Amino acid sequence: MVKEKYYITTAIDYVNAKPHVGHAFEKVISDVIARWNRLQDKDVFFLTGVDENAQKNVQAAEKAGIPVKEFVDKNTAFFLELSKKLNISHNDFIRTSASEHGKVVQKIIQKILDKGDIYKGEYSGLYCTGCESYYTEKELVDGKCPEHNTVPEQRKEEAYFFKLSKYQDQLLKLIPKYVTPKSKANEVLVRVKEGLNDINISRKDVEIGVPFPSHEDFKVWVWIDALINYVSGLKSKEKKYWPADTHVIGKGINWFHSVIWPAILLSADYPLPKKLLVHGYLNISGKKMSKSTGNTIDPLDLLEKYNADTVRYSLLRNTVFEDSDYSESLLQQRHNDELANKLGNLVSRVSALAEKYGIEKPVSSKLNSSPVLKSVTKHLENYETDRALNEIFAFIDKTNEYIQKKKPWETKSQTVLYELANAIKDATILLSPFLPETSEKIAKIFNFSLTLKDLKAPLKVSKIKKSPILFEKIK
Ligand SMILES: [Zn+2]
Repeated sequence: MVKEKYYITTAIDYVNAKPHVGHAFEKVISDVIARWNRLQDKDVFFLTGVDENAQKNVQAAEKAGIPVKEFVDKNTAFFLELSKKLNISHNDFIRTSASEHGKVVQKIIQKILDKGDIYKGEYSGLYCTGCESYYTEKELVDGKCPEHNTVPEQRKEEAYFFKLSKYQDQLLKLIPKYVTPKSKANEVLVRVKEGLNDINISRKDVEIGVPFPSHEDFKVWVWIDALINYVSGLKSKEKKYWPADTHVIGKGINWFHSVIWPAILLSADYPLPKKLLVHGYLNISGKKMSKSTGNTIDPLDLLEKYNADTVRYSLLRNTVFEDSDYSESLLQQRHNDELANKLGNLVSRVSALAEKYGIEKPVSSKLNSSPVLKSVTKHLENYETDRALNEIFAFIDKTNEYIQKKKPWETKSQTVLYELANAIKDATILLSPFLPETSEKIAKIFNFSLTLKDLKAPLKVSKIKKSPILFEKIK
């Protein structure tokens, strides 16, 4: 039987600095969704990568006094290292400086040219290099870029315009079913209803980027270039996986993905992506985390000190849709209170008792996980990784209460120990997209596989050995 395909992407990151923990947040959310869909036996393609063609990479390289290529290579290596150390299960990692990517950008722009959706004009406006984007006076906050809190510069240039306005009605119909959560759909709908201006999609006098087809003294605006990575990153697999099932992005780039991206695809006659997940930001001490303001936590530092599952878990506890606070002390608290005290202790106690007394399958188990599977499925279909995690940990709490109530260390009841071991199996399989390394370890101890089939089947009775400590307490 042919498996159902599932294509998921993260945003591609600017490489003007090392990654901050907000990048790690987006990657782990996407990874959970990718792994969850693999667990459903889907044929998943998961793409992540970096935007190397942005003008702000050039500026950062100049500031550092390093040639652009060398600078970009160095920072891209950090993003690759982050994905590897966080156990991100991406299938490919795109760098937009790759020549194959540029060719796809040119192919799509050519289609839009052929459609008659591009015309030449003159553009003058307020430009934020941080965003690589023009702003209208109205969009500024106290005359400053709302993302970067910097004053944009006045620019005037010859330009090629894309007829964004032509797609207004189609976008108004698309956005409500495309954008999650609803609040983020409404934010862009309000603006689209006010009317869309055509946008300048070319740049003159920039060093890097993709040459504009038929007008090679211009470059393609880096945002169009960047968005097209979602198609170009599939390379020869485009036919199989496009359109994307889910794009995962941060709220700061909602407009580009909710409005500009679908309009480009409509114009170029490509099928539209199905869902856009817009996640909130992680704040440190109530302030937005940002490379440009220096208010950051380096996730690679965290991964030096703590194991991947601890870092993943501490991030995944944050709400997906809203902004929330994050800090290293929260990481430690979540590790100690939840991973060590709840999950680690349960596995350690039950495996020790099962080694001593053995397990025996009862007629029926009091610890039924099927309602948990149902609600976890519902939450993950809606991308609420935090709520799914809450459900699984509520089941772990219930299992911990059961062991206290039944006191198998006194009764030596093999059937109670079976119920507990079976509940650990169920919780672990559900946790496997969140905590891949830990789940592998637990599965080995209790002899099951991390599959939906094993989730639905009772645990096979086998000899169980005491587990080593899964999570050492952090002092
Ligand atoms: Zn900006």
